[in-house]
Amino acid sequence: MKIALQSKNIVGSSFHKEGTLLIEDGKIKGIVDSISPDQVDIFEDFGDALIMPGLVDTHVHVNEPGRTDWEGFRTATQAAAAGGITTIVDMPLNCLPVTTTKKNFDIKLEAIKGKLYVNVGFWGGVTPLDLKDLPELLDSGVMGVKSFLIDSGIPEFPPMTKEDLNEAMPFISKADLPYLIHAELDDGKTKDLEINKNYESFLKTRPRNWENDAITLMGSLSEKHSCKVHIVHLSSSDILPYLKEQKEKNPLLTVETCPHYLVLASEKIPPGKTLFKCCPPIREENNREALWNGVKEGIVDFIVSDHSPCTPNLKLMEQEDLERAWGGISSLQFSLPLVWTEGRNQGLSPSDLVSLLCSKPAKLIGLDKQKGDLLPGMDADIVVWRPDKQFTITKEKILFKNKITPYEGRTVNGLIEKTYLGGKLIYENGLMPFGPFGKSILKETQKEMKIKKFNGLENSDAIKEAFKCCSSQKWAENLIKRRPFITFQEMVKKSEDVWFKLSSEDWLEAFKGHAKIGDLESLQKKYNQTKSWSHGEQNGVKETPLSVLKELKELNDVYEEKYGFIFIVCATGKSAEEMLEILKKRLHNDRSDELKIAISEQNKITNIRLEKLLWEL
Ligand SMILES: [Zn+2]
Repeated sequence: MKIALQSKNIVGSSFHKEGTLLIEDGKIKGIVDSISPDQVDIFEDFGDALIMPGLVDTHVHVNEPGRTDWEGFRTATQAAAAGGITTIVDMPLNCLPVTTTKKNFDIKLEAIKGKLYVNVGFWGGVTPLDLKDLPELLDSGVMGVKSFLIDSGIPEFPPMTKEDLNEAMPFISKADLPYLIHAELDDGKTKDLEINKNYESFLKTRPRNWENDAITLMGSLSEKHSCKVHIVHLSSSDILPYLKEQKEKNPLLTVETCPHYLVLASEKIPPGKTLFKCCPPIREENNREALWNGVKEGIVDFIVSDHSPCTPNLKLMEQEDLERAWGGISSLQFSLPLVWTEGRNQGLSPSDLVSLLCSKPAKLIGLDKQKGDLLPGMDADIVVWRPDKQFTITKEKILFKNKITPYEGRTVNGLIEKTYLGGKLIYENGLMPFGPFGKSILKETQKEMKIKKFNGLENSDAIKEAFKCCSSQKWAENLIKRRPFITFQEMVKKSEDVWFKLSSEDWLEAFKGHAKIGDLESLQKKYNQTKSWSHGEQNGVKETPLSVLKELKELNDVYEEKYGFIFIVCATGKSAEEMLEILKKRLHNDRSDELKIAISEQNKITNIRLEKLLWEL
């Protein structure tokens, strides 16, 4: 399918020109001066409408599963499409369960099926409750992880202490993923302040220094652990000079802000208007101006919505209760016109807009080669909009689930006309004629990268490496012949296929590579390359009474005498006593049954070792 989109204004992060954008099979082919409509399947002339990459919004709370009355994937991604946003990244809260373990992440991946109108990536979460699950979560396809340094508002997502951070950050650094931080540190000094209907009174309870303190802490921890740290929703402009200096010496530190901090000012918020409540709070007009300077100077890397919806009753709008109202602003769908309307006054060019709303957020999630710009080979995720066309934000226009936003009634510039996802039209002038075409985007995991590395090894090297996992030359050679492997699961499947088809001669050869259980001396002799592994696998043996070890050794000899090969058991996680029990039972088998058990135990051992091999590659 060939598509040509013609306009006087085609805008990428580094160009703004007249021409025709060519799309082929969902990817951008390039920009030409002109093309005859009969050379393509679809030709559109947009006149002076602006064609730019779809927005990448890396800060969206979709809340599904669990709090789908707040928001859901269908409505959130429809709102995104209507706002010219073609990729969102979902936050690990306030869904239920929170995305702090691989298991919970799998539940979310199940919940999204058939609901995505735009592409969706995912952040994981780190709390003190789930620290032990962090390594697995980091290797499950999340784009990175997020923590709070202050009460998150929901009990299942508690904040991290400095000690927790020091424990978590080495893992995050090793995974080379960004660590997103809700940066506010409660110093306890505002707890006696009373919150009344005036926004000012709420603002005073969450002062700038809470953000400043948290950010300086994270700046130093980022350096200490060589860990990518990304500060979400910056509100305090006081910290910009520190960020400027720190970012110059530490490129691992990045920062975002949101439309509400750039568009709204606390002095102008009418009393009792709980829809404006968010954390950190919207600050004074002078702060807003200073934040804009931070954006223009490049200290703030980009702008994302922090769409954080809830049901109307939780906003306590009628009670006008600023103290107890849920904090969070619903705005997905309106980022582009909001930022443009204000940004144009600030001197932003359309190319600046592409950089702030598309290419820089794409970089945070490592997708800047595919998304966020209009360069050849990139995904044809595109928004076509009219920068001068005004419209008023009304309930009727809102596509996200709960039709409440502090921007209702506001007139903005920048009407979105069409949105394309991978070259497919997904939004057109208020209608969503087609879809859902969105996909979930899973980060290539470390394991997948290691598999690629293993695929790239020379045959002889790969055989040598594989042989460490199972000492059958035939197995190693046949396994390597079946490269490339796409996933670890596929590698294991092929390994099993090769292993169970070998001859008993090959199986016996593999068994010879093992140390006798409990015989530490022969263990040390027999293993050179895999010595440390075998020690690890037989950890349970070390703290065992001598009498048990002695019996194990004696029965091992009996076993070997009876069957002609040594006792093979997958020792990982088993104590010597348990292995002794297994050995005693298996001594009752006849030889062919016992051989079957031994080869299946060897297979388990091989699978565990293949995983270790990849990690150490
Ligand atoms: Zn948020």
